[in-house]
Amino acid sequence: MPDIDRRTLLGGSAAALACRPSLAAAPRATVQGPGIYRTKLGDYQLTAIDDGTWFLKIDDEFVRNADATAVNRALAAAFLPPNMLPVSFTVLVVNTGSKLVMIDAGTGGQIADTAGVMLANLAVAGIDPKAVDTIVISHFHPDHINGLKTKDGDKVFPNAEILVPEPEWAFWMDEARMNSAPDRIKVYFRNARRIFGDLEKEVRRFRPGVEVAPGITSIPAFGHTPGHTAFSIASRNQSILAMGDAVRNPYLFARYPDWQPLFDMDGPLAVKTRRQMLDRAAADRMLVEAYHFPFPACGHIVKSGKGYELVPVLWQPLLPERPQRAG
Ligand SMILES: [Zn+2]
Repeated sequence: MPDIDRRTLLGGSAAALACRPSLAAAPRATVQGPGIYRTKLGDYQLTAIDDGTWFLKIDDEFVRNADATAVNRALAAAFLPPNMLPVSFTVLVVNTGSKLVMIDAGTGGQIADTAGVMLANLAVAGIDPKAVDTIVISHFHPDHINGLKTKDGDKVFPNAEILVPEPEWAFWMDEARMNSAPDRIKVYFRNARRIFGDLEKEVRRFRPGVEVAPGITSIPAFGHTPGHTAFSIASRNQSILAMGDAVRNPYLFARYPDWQPLFDMDGPLAVKTRRQMLDRAAADRMLVEAYHFPFPACGHIVKSGKGYELVPVLWQPLLPERPQRAG
C-alpha cells in the first residue's frame, strides 16, 4: 500500500497536473445548477425549493449564552469561516395530488443579494406561482413572508389562500406592541404590515395544533417568535416534520440546542421547543425539514453527545418509493 502522507497528497497532485498538456479551456461557471429536490411521501410529492443563502456577519452578541470563541469553534468544526453564518432558505412545496401547498414564501429577493432564486427554481420545478392553492406561514419574520409580495407590493401567488398562525398575527399586527417595541424589532412589525396590511380579509388565521390542509397539521413551536409554528405532513404511513425555525443552522443549534441566538425572541422557551422537537425527531427516526438547513434542508436527526446531528438525505436522481425506515 503506498504511503499517503500529507506531503504526498499536497505535492503529488500539483506535480501530476503540471506535466499534463492543458486541454480545452472551459469557461468557469458562476452559479450552481437549479436548486430543487423532490421526494415522495406516501401519495404526496414534496419539492424543496432553494431560495439561496445569506452570509450573515455575526459578532459576540449573536448567541446570548455562548461567547464568540465557542461559536467560532463550532463554525470551524463545520469547516465554516469564523464570524459568519450561512443562512440558507428553503421553501417546501407539497403536492397532495389535488392541491399545491407551500410552506413559507421565501425572501422575495429582499433579504440578501445572494438569496431570492425561489421563483427561478419554482419554474425549473414546473410550478406556476398561479397554480399554488395554499401558502402556510410558520411565522412573520421577513425571510418567511417577504416572498408573498414583490418589492412594489404586487402579489406573487395571486390565487393562493394564505394561512397564518393566529398568535403570530395577534402579536405582530398589534399597534400598541409595535409602538413600544425597540427600533430593532419595530422593523419586523412594519414589514408585517407591508405584507399583510391590505390582505387582512383574505388571510385565514389558524390556531396552532389544527390541521391546516389535507394531511398537514400545525404544531405549536413557540419561542423563536410568539406564534412560531411547525408542521407535520403525513400521507399514508409516511410523514415529515417541517420544523421551521425551531432549529436553525444544524452545526450550531442542533449540536448546541441550548444556545440562544438573538433571533429567538424568547430564548429559554425556544430552547425548550428545540429540544422537544429534536428529541422527538431522533426518537421516532422521523424525516425532518427545516427552513434554514443547508439545501435540500431534509434529513434525519440523531442524538450525539449533549446535542444532535443532522444526517442529510441522499440525492436521488430517480424518485423511487422512499424505503421503509429500518428499526
Ligand atoms: Zn427564518
